Amino acid sequence: MPRIPYWNIDYGIIIDLLAIPVAIVFFYGLYRQWLLIKQGKMRVIPSIGNMIQGIGTFRLKAFLVRGILNARLYRKPASGIAHGFVFWGMVILFIGTNLVILNILFGLPVFSGGFNRWFMSFMLDLAGFLTLVGIVFFLVRRMIPPVRLRLPEARKGFVPVSGLLGLILITGFVTEGARIAAAAGSLEAGAFVGNFLASNLISPALALEIHAVTWWVHGLLSLGFVAYIPYSPLVHIVLAPVNVGFADPAPNVKMGVMDFSAFENEDAEELPALGANKLADFTRKRFLDFSSCLWCGRCQEVCPAYNTDKPLSPKGVIVTLADRLASGKLDESLIEGISMDAIFNCTTCAACMEACPVSINQPKTIMRFRQNLVMEQSRIPELMGKAVASLEQRAHPFFGTGSGAAEWRKDLDVPIFEPGQTEYLLWIGCSVAYEQRAQKIGRAMVRILQKAGTSFGILEESRCTGDPAKQMGNEFLFAEIAQQNIEDFSALGIKKIITLCPHCFNSFSRHYPKLGGEYEIIPHGSFIKILMDEKKLNLVRKDQLITYHDPCYLGRRNGIYDDPRTVIAGVGGLVEMPRHRNESFCCGGGGGNYWAEELGSRINQQRAGEAMETNADTIAVACPFCLLMLTDGLKKHTEETKIFDIAEIVAASMV
Ligand code: SF4
Ligand code: SF4
Repeated sequence: MPRIPYWNIDYGIIIDLLAIPVAIVFFYGLYRQWLLIKQGKMRVIPSIGNMIQGIGTFRLKAFLVRGILNARLYRKPASGIAHGFVFWGMVILFIGTNLVILNILFGLPVFSGGFNRWFMSFMLDLAGFLTLVGIVFFLVRRMIPPVRLRLPEARKGFVPVSGLLGLILITGFVTEGARIAAAAGSLEAGAFVGNFLASNLISPALALEIHAVTWWVHGLLSLGFVAYIPYSPLVHIVLAPVNVGFADPAPNVKMGVMDFSAFENEDAEELPALGANKLADFTRKRFLDFSSCLWCGRCQEVCPAYNTDKPLSPKGVIVTLADRLASGKLDESLIEGISMDAIFNCTTCAACMEACPVSINQPKTIMRFRQNLVMEQSRIPELMGKAVASLEQRAHPFFGTGSGAAEWRKDLDVPIFEPGQTEYLLWIGCSVAYEQRAQKIGRAMVRILQKAGTSFGILEESRCTGDPAKQMGNEFLFAEIAQQNIEDFSALGIKKIITLCPHCFNSFSRHYPKLGGEYEIIPHGSFIKILMDEKKLNLVRKDQLITYHDPCYLGRRNGIYDDPRTVIAGVGGLVEMPRHRNESFCCGGGGGNYWAEELGSRINQQRAGEAMETNADTIAVACPFCLLMLTDGLKKHTEETKIFDIAEIVAASMV
């Protein structure tokens, strides 16, 4: 016997008819969200072509894997599984409800016979039960919230909407139980919750009355819930997958390059904002970021600045902006509220982005404030200001250095790049040229390349990519330096570059192409691996245990995790720190913070301590800034010299 539509209910069709105004309220809510996001700046001039291009940047795989399947949520198994119960339970219940409506209209075979009795009834009960389990988990967790949910502010509105959903599920089960109790349960044998209630809690004598009441309550609450979704925190169901679809594909995390051409155009009606000071300075994509935020605090939990008592919380920044956007305060200055210290404490390590379940780009937002402080307001912390001034006046940011540009290669016969003769430019970069400890990286790499017979050369004069200026918010200076380098590289016919520093690698490969400089860029660790694969290096594998610290600009920002590890495995045994690869913890030097007076406790000491706990003989890095920061941080733990760049480790293993 099939399931009978509106069994025991008079005028049940009212519920179905109410679905029409509910759908209107629902879509109007989404339209209001669009109106909010639409207030953001368009990155490009609106045109049909640009619109098509914009849609072309939507990434279906990310949308499905991270947006719909919520892959990143499962990194925290308990909340990931609970969220999975709620999300997939609701999906199944939504499908089931629609099938019920179709059954009313057309009579569906799935609601008759054994299929309904066993499969349909079981699946719908299972979905409802698991959703309820998930809801209970989230409600309990809101009562005893972890720090990441509580600070700096907990999101309001989750408890009522979760409670409402719980109530809908409970009334649904009671309705089902009453129906089974009244009809002796023969139609829904698989409905294990309904059958349990019918057998143990619902008196058959009252079943018809209970059913009639809870049927209406369940139906009306369900409609109210659907209408409320776009006005509640659950709007993330719609916004978050879209945001993930339009996010930069990890690990290709871009910071963008500013276009200054409008400043050269005397007829330009409006000059672009230099960074951001108020909401109105941000793009639509950033508005979508802010609106999609779950307030989950996963970004804050992994942030090196937050974890060392600095005034920065990436969650705090994003929720402040989300709050302002929701209340329409687009033109209020934000920088003072967020604080200059917080804005400059960001190491741009991208750990927050990597942890964010909805792919929000927190560092890009923070950098926009930094750009405004530096370029519009001429405000920069004192040491960073000195580094930028040194970069402007002496072409490198290492103010106060005692080293000359060529000191790193004294006693070494290092070839100069010859146009048309040399294959690779070995790019030395400013830290290797001017910081004594880092100079050894350059010397080691020269020995490796000479041993392998590589055709390489360096520039006669020392240069910087301009990256430190960009990190510290001075896009003008970065663009100026980069353009000069690009011109000089063209004159020399440079096509292939080996970098010693991940910041240089990132700058050349991510930012220079936008300014017209396209090269084949290889980080030194990857180049050493190629030489090892080609058997151009004769290495002795020593009895040593090595732990490897992933530099943020090589790992998270460029996805290079395996090459340095393969190199290490060629000369010793690899032991991992608890936080490694994409979960690696920053050394503290990124975002120009190498030149910062650090607030709170020291990031480099925390990371060096983690490395020490592995009991490795050697701590390997693949970045001169990490080398300098961690060497300093290690002093808190030991007097031993244990930190070396992979080039130094390989050079010491060559025979
Ligand atoms: S980029 Fe790093 S330092 Fe900056 S907010 Fe994110 S996690 Fe914190
Ligand atoms: S920015 Fe991302 S990780 Fe941070 S609170 Fe929002 S959703 Fe969570």
